[in-house]
Amino acid sequence: MTTTATIPFFPTDLFDDEREVLLELLHEVATDPEQKFILGWRTAALERAIRDSVGAADAVACGSGTSALVLVLKAFGVGPGDEVVVPAYGCAPLAAAPVLLGATPVFADVDPRTLVVDPAEVESLITERTRVVMPAHMFSTMADMPALRRIATTAGVRLLEDSAVAQGGVLGGRAAGTWGDAGVYSFVQVKTFGMPGEGGMVVTGDPALGRAVRVLRNHGQDGVRRFVHHTVGWNSRFDEVMAAFQLHRLPGFPERLERRARIGDYYAERFAHLAPLGITPPPPGRDGRCFYVYSLLAERRDELRDHLLANGVGCHAYYPAPLPHQPAFAPHADRRRDWPNARRGCERSLAIPINPRLTDAQVEHVADQVCRFAERPR
Ligand SMILES: *Cc1c(COP(=O)(O)O)cnc(C)c1O
Repeated sequence: MTTTATIPFFPTDLFDDEREVLLELLHEVATDPEQKFILGWRTAALERAIRDSVGAADAVACGSGTSALVLVLKAFGVGPGDEVVVPAYGCAPLAAAPVLLGATPVFADVDPRTLVVDPAEVESLITERTRVVMPAHMFSTMADMPALRRIATTAGVRLLEDSAVAQGGVLGGRAAGTWGDAGVYSFVQVKTFGMPGEGGMVVTGDPALGRAVRVLRNHGQDGVRRFVHHTVGWNSRFDEVMAAFQLHRLPGFPERLERRARIGDYYAERFAHLAPLGITPPPPGRDGRCFYVYSLLAERRDELRDHLLANGVGCHAYYPAPLPHQPAFAPHADRRRDWPNARRGCERSLAIPINPRLTDAQVEHVADQVCRFAERPR
C-alpha cells in the first residue's frame, strides 16, 4: 500500500496568505493613541458589517460562540426551573449553556441521516416549563428551521439558532442565524469564518435583545456610563486586533465558502452511489447546506477511518457519545429516555476534509480513497 503525505483534516496554513496583514494590524492597534484593545471602533465596524451581511437588526461581538449562547439564554430570562430543548447529538456548549444558568437541558433525538435535531421530537418535548428551543446546524446540513420556527411560535417559546458551524449558509433564501429570535456564530479558527483567536457573535432581529446582550457581555454596563452596573453580567468582550483582521477577511468570505461548496458538490457526485455499499453522504445541493466539515455515515466507520489514515487522508470521528450520556450532562438528562439516532450517529459518523485550502488533486485523492474502501470486495 502506498502512503502519501497526509492531507490534513484541518489545515495548518489557514492564515498564511494574510500573515503580513495580521502583523501590520497588530502593530496598528498596539500603537494607536486610543490604546483600546477590546470593544473599540474596529469591533463596532465588524458588528455592523456582519449585521448588514445577513440583514439582522443588530450583531453583538463577544468572547466565543459558547459565550454567545449563554448571553442570549440569559437575555431571554432563562434560569432555574426553566427547560431548554437541545439536540441529543452535538457539542458540549449546547447542553452546558442551559446548565450554567441553572436551567434544564431537555435532549431531543436527531434525524438519522443529517444528525440535526428532529422537529417532531422537539415538539413532543415541549412542556409548560419550556422557555427556549435551541437547534444547532450540524457539519454539512442546516436544521429544519421553518419547522422549528413554527413549533416555537405555536408554543410561545423563544428560538435560539446555534449557527456556530453554519455562518454563510442559506436556507430558503434566509441566512443561517436569522431564522431564530437570535443566532450565534463562532470565529474559532476551524469554523467557516474562523480566525486565529477566540470570538463569537450574536445576531438578532430584535433590537431590545441586542441591547440586553451588549450589557451582559460587559459586566452589566451599558457602554455609555462606565462603572454603572445595571445587571450582573460577564466579561465576554471582543479583541480589536481580531476585529481588524476579520474586517480585512470578510470580503474574501464568499469565495472561500464557494470553494467549500464546490468540494461538497464534487463529493456528492462521487459518493452518490455509495449508500448501498454502506456509506451515506449528506444530502446533495446547496440550499440548507453549510460545509463546515463533510460528514459521512459509514457502517464500518472505524475501518473506513483506518483506511483513510493509512492512505494519507486526515479524518475525524466526532462525538463519542450523545450529550445526555456524557458524565457532565447525564445527571441533567431524563434516564427513562433513549436517543437511538444520536447513538447510531456517534457510531457511524466520519468527517473528511473540506476546507478552502485543499487542492483539486487532494480532494480527488480523498474521494478516490473513500470509493476504493466502499467498492473493494469484503
Ligand atoms: C464551535 C461550536 C460552538 C462553540 O463555539 P466556540 O466559539 O468554540 O465557543 C457552539 N456550538 C456549535 C454547534 C459549535 O460547533
